[in-house]
Amino acid sequence: MTPTARTRLALLLGDPVAHSRSPAIHNAAFEALGLDAVYLAARVEAAHLGEAVAGLRALGMLGANVTIPHKQAIVPYLDALTPVAEAIGAVNTVVPQPDGTLLGTNTDAAGFFEPLRPHAATLDGAEVVVFGAGGAARAVTYALLTEVHPARLTLVARSPAKATALAQSFAALDLHGVLHIAEPTLADDHARNAALLVNATPLGMHGAHEAATPWPAADFRPEQLAYDLVYAPAETRFLREAAARGATPLVGLAMLVGQAAEAFHLWTGQPMPLPPVYRALGA
Ligand code: NAP
Repeated sequence: MTPTARTRLALLLGDPVAHSRSPAIHNAAFEALGLDAVYLAARVEAAHLGEAVAGLRALGMLGANVTIPHKQAIVPYLDALTPVAEAIGAVNTVVPQPDGTLLGTNTDAAGFFEPLRPHAATLDGAEVVVFGAGGAARAVTYALLTEVHPARLTLVARSPAKATALAQSFAALDLHGVLHIAEPTLADDHARNAALLVNATPLGMHGAHEAATPWPAADFRPEQLAYDLVYAPAETRFLREAAARGATPLVGLAMLVGQAAEAFHLWTGQPMPLPPVYRALGA
């Protein structure tokens, strides 16, 4: 597609951004729907984030995504946040409003939950284990507390203080006291009993962590769901070991596409066409 004088622009703000799959996802969707819009990734250093947001406002953007390290830092520069962004404490999507103001929201929780929706009934009253207590774990925790009713949601983190802070910040949503914290050495019993295990750490990712898994015991059962947020590689050690024991693997690419689809819908009012998007990702 050749940009014209009418082409709308959507941007990703982050640092680094060169590895991002978001341009491939959104540009495939724009093209499939014949929308005159283009999505580019902009590397924005922390010192220039305020100017970048002022630019979004001045240039009449279609929308923007925000990634590491700006998801929390962008909040003061925006005019308003949605309740989900407030609860998670981070913004991954900026939606320009008709009056020119900028609304920050977070589509990671919805993107995470989309692949789980068909399994939601099995999570009510069940134990869930989430490995990690960082930004992704916050979106996961929000989704699990608001979309299903687990009997117990155990955060397994190597930094207990971080997991405690995460649990405290969700206290208002944790009406039945289901959030618990466990150190990795004590995770096995929880993991064996869980209906769903979520990897929200970088363990298994391409590079230094590729041979690693958040659950070395890998004592999966066929009734379990294993959801890895890591999406490169598509099949991590965590998912391979889960599948080998008959558990159902859920891939991180589905969350990546899910959060993008939610943002795309907020910007364009149209559902993201998924087959061309998955083709563009080579999946
Ligand atoms: P983050 O904020 O840096 O949090 C990472 C978490 O993993 C922290 O709890 C961290 O513990 C823990 N961790 C890091 N290295 C570890 C290790 N060697 N052993 C055990 N725990 C370790 O990162 P994030 O944004 O939450 O992202 C986490 C993962 O999810 C990344 O792989 C990211 O690519 C993926 N993700 C995927 C999607 C998607 O759409 N599929 C969306 C968001 C994130 P400490 O605090 O102690 O360092």
